[in-house]
Amino acid sequence: MKIRIIGGGPAGLYFAALMKRENPAHDVVVFERGPRDATWGFGVVFSDRALEFLRADDEAMYQLLMPLMETWPDLTIVHNDTPVPIAGNGFAAIGRLEFLSRLYAHAESLGVKIEFDSEVAALDHPALAGAELIVGADGAFSSVRNEMSEQFGTETDLRTNRFIWYGTSKAFDSLSLTFRETEHGVFCAHHYRYSPAMSTFLVEVTDATWQRAGFADMSEEDTIRRCEQVFANELGGAQILSNKSCWRQFPAVTNRHWSVGNVVLLGDALRTAHFSIGSGTRLAMEDAIALWKALRDSGGLPEALTLFQERRLPPMRKILDAATASIRWYERMDETICLAPLDFAYSYMTRTGRVDHSEMMRRDPKLAAAWEHRHPEIFGDSY
Ligand SMILES: Cc1cc2nc3c(=O)[nH]c(=O)nc-3n(C[C@H](O)[C@H](O)[C@H](O)COP(=O)(O)OP(=O)(O)OC[C@H]3O[C@@H](n4cnc5c(N)ncnc54)[C@H](O)[C@@H]3O)c2cc1C
Repeated sequence: MKIRIIGGGPAGLYFAALMKRENPAHDVVVFERGPRDATWGFGVVFSDRALEFLRADDEAMYQLLMPLMETWPDLTIVHNDTPVPIAGNGFAAIGRLEFLSRLYAHAESLGVKIEFDSEVAALDHPALAGAELIVGADGAFSSVRNEMSEQFGTETDLRTNRFIWYGTSKAFDSLSLTFRETEHGVFCAHHYRYSPAMSTFLVEVTDATWQRAGFADMSEEDTIRRCEQVFANELGGAQILSNKSCWRQFPAVTNRHWSVGNVVLLGDALRTAHFSIGSGTRLAMEDAIALWKALRDSGGLPEALTLFQERRLPPMRKILDAATASIRWYERMDETICLAPLDFAYSYMTRTGRVDHSEMMRRDPKLAAAWEHRHPEIFGDSY
C-alpha cells in the first residue's frame, strides 16, 4: 500500500513503523516540516503504568524505550509551601527529543522514509499524489484537518487557562504540582525530571491571573524572571530555560468523523487530551496501534477506517472525559486553593472522577486515613 503520512510526531512515526513491520512491501513516507534534531518542549510524562500499553503489541519498542525513562512511584502536591506527598502513583518521563530520535531510528530501521524539512500544508500537494492512504498526524493545529473540518465535524474549544512549557536544569525527585498564591492569583508549576539532569517546568495560570500579572505585554526575559521569582523555593537557584516557549491556551479538539475518503486523522490532529493527565503521547501511540490493527483485520480500506473509529472511540472517550474534568479543575484552582493542603491534594487526586476514596485507600492508605479523620461529617465520629 502507498501510505503518505503528514507529521513526524509520535502518532505518525509509530504508525509508519507498525505498517512497515507488518509488511515491508508497504511504501511508507513521513513528511515532517521540522529538522531532524529540533523539537518544541522538553520532556513528556506517561502516567499509570508508563509504557505497559505497548507490551502486548510491541515488546521491542517497550524494551527500546523503557531504559530511557525516568520513573517515580510518588506524586507531590505542593500547596503554597506545604508539600503533600501521595504514594501509589506511577509515572515515567522522557525527553521529547530523545523519544522522537529513537522513533526516527526505529522507523528508519524498518524501511520508513522520513522527509525532514518538508511541509505538506495541503492535500493537493504533489507529494501525496497516488497515495492510497493519507494520514493527518500533523498535531493539534493540523492543516489536513482544517482543510476538511466540515467533513471531519471538527470542534475546537480554546480553553481559558494560559500555560507556558519551560525546562530547568534542576532534577526534581518526584512528579510535582506546585500551587502558589501570589498577589495576582494562583500560579501552578507542573515539574518533573525527564533525564538525570533536566526537568520539564510548565507554568499554568488562569486567564484572570495572566491578565493581572501583565504577561500580555511582558518580554520573554521578564516572563522567565517572574516565573523564577514565584517558584524560587522549588527552583533553588536553578534557571528556567526556554525553547521557543510562549504562552498558549489549550485547544480541546474533537472530530465526529475520523476519516474522510482515504484521509484519516491520528494523534493530536484527531483529538487533544489536556497535558495534566499525561496521556497525549500515549493516546497518539495507541491510535497508531488501533489503526494498524484495523487495517490488518479488514478486507479493504473503507472497512478498516470504520473499524478504527468503532474500536478506538470507547476507550478514548473515557480518557477524554477525564481530561475535560481535569481542565475544569485547573480553571477553578484560584477558588480551590482556599482548602487546607490535605483537602486540596485530595481534591486534586479525585478531580477526574477516575479515582474515588476506595482507590485513594488502595494507593495511599495513610493519606486516605488522614483525610477521613478530617471529615467526620462523611465518615462518622468513630475516628
Ligand atoms: C505543553 C504541553 C505539554 C505536554 N505534556 C505532555 C506530557 O507530559 N505527556 C504526554 O504524553 N503528552 C504531553 N503533551 C502532548 C503531546 O505532546 C502530544 O499529545 C503528542 O505529541 C501528540 O503526538 P502527535 O504525533 O499527534 O502530534 P505532535 O507531537 O504535535 O507531532 C506533529 C508533527 O507534525 C509536524 N507537522 C505539523 N504540520 C505539518 C505540516 N503541514 N507538514 C509537515 N509536518 C507537519 C510537526 O512539526 C510535528 O512534528 C503535551 C503537550 C503540550 C502542548
